[in-house]
Amino acid sequence: MSARILDGKAIAAAIESEVASAVQDLEKRLGLTPRLCVVLVGENPASQVYVRNKARAAGRVGIRSEIIRLPETSCTADVRRQVEALDADSDVDGILVQLPLPRDVDEAEVMGRLDADKDVDGLTAVNMGRLLLGTNPWAPCTPAGVMEILRRSDIPVEGKKVTIVGRSNIVGKPLALLMLRAHATVTLCHTRTANLEEETRRADILVAAAGRTALLGARHISPGTTVIDIGINRVTSRQEAENFFAGNPRRLEQFERNGSALVGDVHPAEAQECAGAITPVPGGVGPLTVAMLLLNTVDAARRRRTAARR
Ligand code: NAD
Repeated sequence: MSARILDGKAIAAAIESEVASAVQDLEKRLGLTPRLCVVLVGENPASQVYVRNKARAAGRVGIRSEIIRLPETSCTADVRRQVEALDADSDVDGILVQLPLPRDVDEAEVMGRLDADKDVDGLTAVNMGRLLLGTNPWAPCTPAGVMEILRRSDIPVEGKKVTIVGRSNIVGKPLALLMLRAHATVTLCHTRTANLEEETRRADILVAAAGRTALLGARHISPGTTVIDIGINRVTSRQEAENFFAGNPRRLEQFERNGSALVGDVHPAEAQECAGAITPVPGGVGPLTVAMLLLNTVDAARRRRTAARR
């Protein structure tokens, strides 16, 4: 069996075009262009790439965006002051604080200052509480992206057994809540789960968000399962690449050319054989995370600015 590939890039492109229309509509009806500010503290290389991708995507759909860079040596008060200044600026619709913050910056303290109505990543305590109660205006971008991939690929969630591997605050936990709201029966696994294989094999939809290269392989996946791979891990070993990309000469060539490749938390060659459908890495969940940020930003702008007019 060869798994159906769930093309995140194509789905994200469709969402981007919808967002671009929504931006034009806001400009025409209300004379406003949404504005997104991304706060980047320090030099984390992965964060630099993510932030650049987000700013570029905002530009593509007509959202005004800016990256506010603070030095690695910033203290909690520096970052907090920056967030408070953006909260107070009525021309800012969305604020995203790129995580992780440097070790010495208190993340809870910074996120606690972020205005929930501008928190387009949906990660403040207020928005997490709203998510739990089902009153959230939008959802954290990566979990929301997973729901969107399933919806737009006509893969039903209602009544299905969903197993999520990973219980982080930004991915696993909020995704469990969204799945529950979509009427799935949810199992949340983590490092202390007693028999991971048994839990994952029960799933109709298996979501990997552990941050462990190819943690889940053939023995974890029952035939026909839909596999959503959220992990992003860089592989530099040729031997590993040959194992992960067996039967995929294009990816092996790319690895040879670049000296590294991205692999998710699911073994790509093994999943291709046994899953019913799978999101590739790269090109699966990643593009959706960015697309949902754009969607949330337009939503935040519409809600806040129309409320201000009432
Ligand atoms: P995290 O490190 O905060 O959490 C990992 C979770 O996985 C933990 O709850 C841990 O208990 C669980 N876990 C780790 N090893 C395990 C094991 N062997 N068995 C069972 N559970 C295990 O990570 P995160 O921030 O949730 O990110 C997870 C992965 O998703 C990372 O690879 C990250 O890069 C990726 N990610 C991708 C996107 C995207 O847009 N595609 C967005 C966010 C995160």
